[in-house]
Amino acid sequence: MVEVTREMILAALGKVRKIDNGQDVVSLGMISGVVVRDGNVGFAIEVDAAEGAAAEPLRKACKSAVEAVSGVLSVTAVLTADRPAQRSDSTPDQNATSQTAPLPDSQGIPGIATILAVASGKGGVGKSTTAVNLAVAMSSGGARVGLLDCDVYGPSIPRLMQLSGQPGTSGDSKLLPMKNYGVKCMSMGFLVEEDTPMIWRGPMVMSALEQMLRDVHWGELDILVCDLPPGTGDAQLTMAQRVPLTGAVVVSTPQDIALLDVRRGIAMFEKVDIPVFGIIENMSYFVCSHCNERTNIFSHGGARETAAKLGADFLGEIPLAAEIRETSDAGEPIVLARPQSSHSAAYRGIAQQVLQLCRAAHEGDGRQAPNIIMM
Ligand code: ADP
Repeated sequence: MVEVTREMILAALGKVRKIDNGQDVVSLGMISGVVVRDGNVGFAIEVDAAEGAAAEPLRKACKSAVEAVSGVLSVTAVLTADRPAQRSDSTPDQNATSQTAPLPDSQGIPGIATILAVASGKGGVGKSTTAVNLAVAMSSGGARVGLLDCDVYGPSIPRLMQLSGQPGTSGDSKLLPMKNYGVKCMSMGFLVEEDTPMIWRGPMVMSALEQMLRDVHWGELDILVCDLPPGTGDAQLTMAQRVPLTGAVVVSTPQDIALLDVRRGIAMFEKVDIPVFGIIENMSYFVCSHCNERTNIFSHGGARETAAKLGADFLGEIPLAAEIRETSDAGEPIVLARPQSSHSAAYRGIAQQVLQLCRAAHEGDGRQAPNIIMM
């Protein structure tokens, strides 16, 4: 088989011209982060922030050009913007594709029964750790589970799920998810070199996300758990709108400020009519790993009160425990590393509730409901 090289990719991209000035994307310095591994190619196209979704046809043209290179098995082309908008005085090409071309409408993904968002009002509250432990708990209980790392700014799923390398491709040139602990995973961390600087704007994030959602061979899943980027900004809002979510859970720590963020998180999903299944309080209280004594270092119980006030369910609390951090950081989620611990039981309890809520959300809409597990 022909060995695909970086030079071959750049040569192919050198033939893709930008419609507003006729120059090719390579000479314009728009291509960065080219990665070639065993015929799987990834690269970023830097565009002006103002171009937004209008740059989508250019991304598609670049992707097609590289797909045509002999030996290329898969192509991941993402838009990124780290330069301010530039004024272009050139006359637009007659054949120019509409500058307002919208991204495709969000539709359900065939084969995926439920899509759950795991969100948080701010970073560092343990959202990814929670998403991973819930996904693994659901999978160990017998559900068919996928995990999508929507955090293109700081993907952490590869590390938390102890996955490295690049995803393979299927016959129809879709990416195959990487799998560990029974969970099929996809993350920008598999597709872009760790040291590739990427500065994202909303529309570019969506283009990457659409690919990870729809150009991946997920197969039949009872549930796809989406680890959303932290916060409630525009990017998260668009994501909540564009990913066909069944519902969302919001992870919070007990401090008041975090709870203010929770309110914003819930309001964000309400704005786009996504049901919030409930709140999970993480780092709820401290459990000493030596004597097992419990200390409420923050004002414990805040999430339960907020949930009640907002009419959302309180799904459970997870303690602040060294074991959770150690297992998580070692890429071995606690629900597998220490299945007998009370912390694992807490994750399993929440996982089961969430699956039940997903099933309830499907009642009446005639769609395939997720497989409920008995743990
Ligand atoms: P986020 O996704 O909200 O940014 P992470 O899941 O990456 O947060 O967690 C941030 C840090 O906190 C990680 O080092 C993780 O191991 C640790 N952590 C998360 N939950 C707990 C917990 N319940 N107990 C102890 N450490 C935790």
